[in-house]
Amino acid sequence: MQPVYYDLHVHSALSPCAASDMSPNDIVGMALLNNLDLIAITDHNSLSNTLSVINAAKAAREEHGKELIVLPGVEVSTVEEVHVLCLFDNINTALSFEDELVPYFSALSNRIDIFGSQILYDENDCVTGEMNRMLIAPTSISFDELYLLTHKYNGAFIPAHIDRASFSVISNLGFIPPHLDINTIEVSPHGVENGFLEKNEDARMRKNILISSDAHQLWAISERENFLLLPELTAKAAIDFLR
Ligand SMILES: [Zn+2]
Ligand SMILES: [Zn+2]
Repeated sequence: MQPVYYDLHVHSALSPCAASDMSPNDIVGMALLNNLDLIAITDHNSLSNTLSVINAAKAAREEHGKELIVLPGVEVSTVEEVHVLCLFDNINTALSFEDELVPYFSALSNRIDIFGSQILYDENDCVTGEMNRMLIAPTSISFDELYLLTHKYNGAFIPAHIDRASFSVISNLGFIPPHLDINTIEVSPHGVENGFLEKNEDARMRKNILISSDAHQLWAISERENFLLLPELTAKAAIDFLR
């Protein structure tokens, strides 16, 4: 087993609330600077910048010989407005998952003046366009349906920032649904500091408790501080562990 230092909740500039400099190469550069081994790109309700970040990490590996695994992922907002990280071990599976999510997407258009831009980047950090669909709006998929869909594609289903007073499974549903086999949860760094796990036994007893940054700016990406113990540094090993 080896410690794999991670940050599994990072937004790119596609998320309207993220800084416009959250470009593929800047995210990869900051993750490498922080000596991370594994990150996940988790924009709100879209995977459209993910492949660019994966390719930027591949190019960095060829140039500098530094290994950074990028998991394709998405932070889905369910119909109950619960945020869930859905992570996968390869981009094709992740995009097939997204195809099935399309019917649940909001039909609203983004309001740049209120929510900010939704910037699409290629792997060389060139802006290729803006997404029109309002990514900040919740989808119409339920928490239970999303659980089943994520598992159909062998993904990891991770309720996000469950300590928060809004957009979390505990704030919006009242508890972690006991009829679902949820092995991994995410607690925000703020929640850990404030003793959330000491107060919540149900959360504390989960197999894996992730602490990620939910970075919307480059400076917020995690330092080399939280790790998973994995048999090898691969996307598959990470997802097998988290599922
Ligand atoms: Zn969130
Ligand atoms: Zn987030």
